[in-house]
Amino acid sequence: MRAAVITRPRTLEVQEVPTPSPGPGQVRVRVGAAGVCGTDVHLFDGHFHARLPLIPGHEVAGVIDAVGPGVAELHEGQLVALDPVVSCGQCWACRRGQRQHCLRFEALGLTRPGGFAQHVVAPAANAHPVRGLSAAEASFAEPLGCVAWGIVRLRPEPGSKALLFGAGPIGLLLMQALRISGAAEVTVVDPVPERLALAKALGASHAVPAGAGTADALRDLEPHGFDVVAEATGVAGVVEAMPRYAAVGGKVLIFGVAPEEATVRLSPYDVFRRDLSVVGSFSLNGTLPLALSWLESGRVRVGPLISHRLPIEELGKALEYKEHPGMGDALKVLIVPE
Ligand SMILES: [Zn+2]
Ligand SMILES: [Zn+2]
Repeated sequence: MRAAVITRPRTLEVQEVPTPSPGPGQVRVRVGAAGVCGTDVHLFDGHFHARLPLIPGHEVAGVIDAVGPGVAELHEGQLVALDPVVSCGQCWACRRGQRQHCLRFEALGLTRPGGFAQHVVAPAANAHPVRGLSAAEASFAEPLGCVAWGIVRLRPEPGSKALLFGAGPIGLLLMQALRISGAAEVTVVDPVPERLALAKALGASHAVPAGAGTADALRDLEPHGFDVVAEATGVAGVVEAMPRYAAVGGKVLIFGVAPEEATVRLSPYDVFRRDLSVVGSFSLNGTLPLALSWLESGRVRVGPLISHRLPIEELGKALEYKEHPGMGDALKVLIVPE
């Protein structure tokens, strides 16, 4: 089969590699679509403890085309979305229900071969049957599963007024998830007018351009602050500004992936005096089925987020789009092997 392989940092090759066979308790999936995400850029750069050579791709959906021994619930021909997190089930973190923090953490497309290939093998337990979606739509189950874990962590109160920084693909998923998880209104801030327009089309209550007038515009909208302030930017400066937009008792969700070395200044007195909560959210934790139910019910729309569908051979181009946020019109780039 053909596969995109990161052979060493910043070197990507499309290679002919042996088609994998499913072992006991595994299924093989013919990849229908695999989403490109910022993590893939980090892997390409050799970060995230990438074990090279590696076939990346952790946002995968496709049709099962081979089933290993001992697989009871799945069969050939089924469209599935893959949860990339492979946990041991036995370590301290797994026993506490924190499988994304497994001490023997493995993941498809991070430590094991992923989905930027014609086929990928996964544990049957990680393959979730999909109804009524295309493979392209179903490939959003993984990033939306991460968003769902963020929502589970955040627990927005019914009727919340929410503020969200960032209307990239993840921000637009988070905005929709907030809308159906208790937020009465979601105000979105982003520098790109087209993204703000898309946010409005997908249900954002207010769209505010990022810039000199942002603080005043937000104060006009909610003079006492927002119940929820979330970000999907990974920009430390944005995170630093978030508490000042929170209402008393407000919750601040740090969702974007900031550089490891980034730090922010936070007033402990402010957190104390105004009953603020600061919430983090890492990866997904059994929340892929929740994401699938949002997708299958049509409550979260992903079609408008797809900006490119590229063959495996053009993965390098997709990583470049990701490397230059704000360059061009790229939102979600999908790799479509066939
Ligand atoms: Zn991802
Ligand atoms: Zn474990």
